[in-house]
Amino acid sequence: MTAISNMPQISKKKTGNKNHYTFSQTPIMSTYLIYLGVGEFEFLSSKLGKVLVRIVTTKGNKSKGKLALDLTKKFLRYYETYFGIKYPLPKLDMIAVPDFAAGAMENWGAITFRETILLYDSKTSSTKTKQYIAEVISHELAHQWFGNLVTMKWWNDLWLNESFATYMATKIVDAFYPQWDLWDQFLESSMGAAMALDGLKTSHPIDVKVRKPSEIREIFDSISYDKGGCILRMLEYYVGSKNFKNGLHSYLTKYKYKNAAGQDLWNSIGKTSKKPVQSMMNSWIKQIGFPLVNVEKKNSKLVLTQKRFLLEEDKKHQKGLWQIPITVGTKNPPTKLMIKKTESFSLQKQIIPVVNSSKKSFFRIRYDEELLSSLKPLVENNTLNNIDRWNLQNDLFTICVSGNENISKYLDFTDAYHQEKNYLSSANVANNLNFLYLISFHETFVDDIKQYAYDYFRNLFDRLGWDAKKNEKHTDTLLRGTVILVLGKLEDQEILDEAERRFDAHVKNKKIIKPDLSEVVFSLAAWNGNEQTFEKLIKLYRKASTQEVKLRVLGAICYFKDEKLLFKTLKFILTNEVRSQNLALPIIRIAGNPYGKKIMWPWLKKNWRLLNQKFGHGNPIANRIVASISLFANDTMQKEIKNFFKKNPTPGTEMTLAQTLERIRIHSRFLKHLKTQFQ
Ligand SMILES: [Zn+2]
Repeated sequence: MTAISNMPQISKKKTGNKNHYTFSQTPIMSTYLIYLGVGEFEFLSSKLGKVLVRIVTTKGNKSKGKLALDLTKKFLRYYETYFGIKYPLPKLDMIAVPDFAAGAMENWGAITFRETILLYDSKTSSTKTKQYIAEVISHELAHQWFGNLVTMKWWNDLWLNESFATYMATKIVDAFYPQWDLWDQFLESSMGAAMALDGLKTSHPIDVKVRKPSEIREIFDSISYDKGGCILRMLEYYVGSKNFKNGLHSYLTKYKYKNAAGQDLWNSIGKTSKKPVQSMMNSWIKQIGFPLVNVEKKNSKLVLTQKRFLLEEDKKHQKGLWQIPITVGTKNPPTKLMIKKTESFSLQKQIIPVVNSSKKSFFRIRYDEELLSSLKPLVENNTLNNIDRWNLQNDLFTICVSGNENISKYLDFTDAYHQEKNYLSSANVANNLNFLYLISFHETFVDDIKQYAYDYFRNLFDRLGWDAKKNEKHTDTLLRGTVILVLGKLEDQEILDEAERRFDAHVKNKKIIKPDLSEVVFSLAAWNGNEQTFEKLIKLYRKASTQEVKLRVLGAICYFKDEKLLFKTLKFILTNEVRSQNLALPIIRIAGNPYGKKIMWPWLKKNWRLLNQKFGHGNPIANRIVASISLFANDTMQKEIKNFFKKNPTPGTEMTLAQTLERIRIHSRFLKHLKTQFQ
């Protein structure tokens, strides 16, 4: 057995049958960052200057730490240069932990990760895993300065740690892997998640009052990570990257080994940029929600009006006024701070009337009819950049979900995207159509939507095909899986047959499926499968040598159509063969499976106590499971769900429950609206 802590070991003495370890003293630090680990470890070590860097694994796994070691050294050096401050400790351990509720934890000098987020095996790991490992390492390393060297004064500023780590993670990985188009992915996933949550009236301000531990846990959410990250991105655009970096440097230098508040950072960046950073930032972090800006053309002017964007409109929650950095036009337009409810901007003839080009600021737009139809051809002929193309339909779709526009308008508009080759729009239109298909799955009009979605996905598939092309774009690799999976679920017989063929060859060891495709093929085998398929998949699960491969199979056995087999899956996940840290994934998958809709709620109620025992008090997995209820429930179940959680209180999920109920209402109302349009 070996012991590890934040600082290097200075001595080890044997007393009786025990070992006594002594570690050197840490600098002044916060208690939440203390680490002590004991176990049978293997080490993969290297040096970066004077700093000892080690990947720490359980026995037999150290060779899978090579990628992590390489990335850690690269990123650590980059951070030192970017912040202008050396990594302050003599060593850095990156520890892969077999069972871990969270994804990773930034303990100073002894960072812990789930095995799936640190260990990489080129034979069995997917492209997505490689990218994720890079992102999480980068995120945790950012904390070594942001959070560890300078710690927030109180938990209300937790967001600053997480937003910064989220934002910097993307920035640094992008510097090393520009071909991954991480900023595009950031918009689709992080900004998408942030706006989806913050469009609820049950959202919360970034800077929120925190009084007890269960409230702390609830704010480790998309508002702190993703919305915060988007607000920092907006700030960097607003002040310029040089001022942003210099402001950070002076903040970290001034407060190192101390506590600081968000306001201290705005002061630093305000000083270096000579812009009203404090008041601008306060309007974004102290207020709940974000704006929807209406854009109307009046003669040679664009008139912009801001109000709070809500997915479920409610007069009581409409208040809000933001200081929004605004641009009009597409070619390096100047930025103006919009501080009033309504402001007008002059529009010269040659300027394309796109507001907030490249979505630098955090808001949605509703263009008037005439403007929107004038922009559609500019999507079709790629005059607009990829982010603007993505954003136009993205805002329009969300406005449809909020009930303020007919879906036919969205479907007409997306005609312009059938030849789209860029990842952002392709992925987002795909996600939106998939959402439409799943929400109307059991309705009589589903065939209309199915046909439209089918044409769109088939088009994408014709470009991507089954197998990766030599030197293809990273994002094409990521997109392929979704496209094939959805086509299968749209009952494309050719796709289902090919998946079946590949699955059989894989099971018989004739041709092993490449890591990027295996989850999709397994999932479609289940979708189209029976009892025997279930047994074959369970065998693959048991045979899998890594957690990553096990998780892929675990996800796949949630795609059966037969309720009996889904029950078998649910029974299986409660056995000792599935680690409690992995419970959320299968539950969310079955909740999202249209054939699992009926069985999930009774099963959850019956097993809630057992589940709670399994993942333990205060585990964030509980929040993910509560949130998954919105995937299968409708508004007639609201009362019952509320009552159930009243009788079975689960501290730390109160806000998530309120958000889940709101989502259920929004989905039900959207579905009703769809019915009136299609019938
Ligand atoms: Zn973090």
